[in-house]
Amino acid sequence: MLPDVIVVGAGIVGAAVAEALAVAGCRVRVLESAWPGSGSTGAAMGHLLVLDDSEAQWRLTRLSRDLWDARADQWGAALEWESCGTVWVAADGEELELARRRGAWFAERGVASELLDQVALRAAEPNLAAGLAGGLRVPGDSVIYPPAAVRLLLEGAVRHGATIAAGTPVKRAGGGWVELTNGDRLPAGAVIIAAGLATPELLATPVEGLALIPKKGHLAITDRYPGWLRHQLVELSYLKSAHGSAPSSVAFNVQPRATGQILIGSSRQLDTLDPTVEPATLSRMLARAATYLPRLETLTILRTWVGFRPATPDNLPLIGPVPGQPRLWLATGHEGIGVATALGTAALIRASVLGEAPPLDPTPYAVDRVVGWMAHA
Ligand SMILES: Cc1cc2nc3c(=O)[nH]c(=O)nc-3n(C[C@H](O)[C@H](O)[C@H](O)COP(=O)(O)OP(=O)(O)OC[C@H]3O[C@@H](n4cnc5c(N)ncnc54)[C@H](O)[C@@H]3O)c2cc1C
Repeated sequence: MLPDVIVVGAGIVGAAVAEALAVAGCRVRVLESAWPGSGSTGAAMGHLLVLDDSEAQWRLTRLSRDLWDARADQWGAALEWESCGTVWVAADGEELELARRRGAWFAERGVASELLDQVALRAAEPNLAAGLAGGLRVPGDSVIYPPAAVRLLLEGAVRHGATIAAGTPVKRAGGGWVELTNGDRLPAGAVIIAAGLATPELLATPVEGLALIPKKGHLAITDRYPGWLRHQLVELSYLKSAHGSAPSSVAFNVQPRATGQILIGSSRQLDTLDPTVEPATLSRMLARAATYLPRLETLTILRTWVGFRPATPDNLPLIGPVPGQPRLWLATGHEGIGVATALGTAALIRASVLGEAPPLDPTPYAVDRVVGWMAHA
């Protein structure tokens, strides 16, 4: 007998989990405090990519990229799917060596990439600055529009009988039950909390050591310049900013949108929940981008905004059952790759809830590892 399921949170992770469990035949209810995609997901870039900084992250990004690819034919245009690939840009010879090693690592694992020298890089992206050493092109990476992905996933869940309750804040949750802020208590065979940064505070029985770190990020989007940019461009040392402990950092990360607009990132600020755009950080981010794409300064920026990535101390998400609290699961902590890894996360949660064979070893993402985080506090 399949459990009735409550999913708390309708960001990309909650939407993917809801769809997976509804398709599996569970009766799914999604409870969302605001509206679908209103959290980190609505602020994201939507870069779908494979990453090599740990085996666990590699496996989850690889599985998820394959799962997204399978949706491309079904949903391509509606997702604003761009099969633009990623170019990891190497500023100098040392970074080009890093690019070569990353390419070799991908090749060992069956992912195609191409090392670009200085000339090939300029041919691939004519607006890049002269003098950059080269790069690594990963043609299988792509870009989607995250709010569209949330909508499509939830529509899929609804087609399989799910209900979505927006404007329904959960006060707290435990094994097999959820309490709303209006006092209603809802039972369920399985509760999955996918409430992003809010997840720890919703646990009626706290999990010792569990804490999420907000990583604030700024983005800017230009007017429409079709063809100006062809790939998602990211500086080779991007992961230093993504996973570093510096209170504030910026990195070159720009994206061509299906509309012809150019989305410019990225910044990271730790331990702040200030929702305002900070001119100083934005200027630093844009100046960094302009060192790689000098003509970017001639384009018109239409809008800027910020979002908060839900991060963990060990840079891996929390996906799995809560120890000692039967019928309660967490799916959160994906930092800057929650869109990219949402479908793999949903596949892991589905397997765990239904007792099926997992699509990959779930151990690195298990919730019980948070005990070790006490040392970071
Ligand atoms: C600037 C920026 C750029 C990014 N770029 C990328 C990218 O290119 N690729 C990528 O993969 N990722 C990217 N990310 C990261 C990505 O946005 C996150 O990893 C992802 O959106 C996390 O999804 P989520 O569903 O866990 O959280 P959220 O999207 O935050 O969803 C959580 C949901 O839970 C709801 N909620 C909270 N509390 C309650 C409650 N009490 N009751 C009910 N509901 C509740 C919220 O309203 C929200 O809708 C980026 C993030 C930022 C900020």
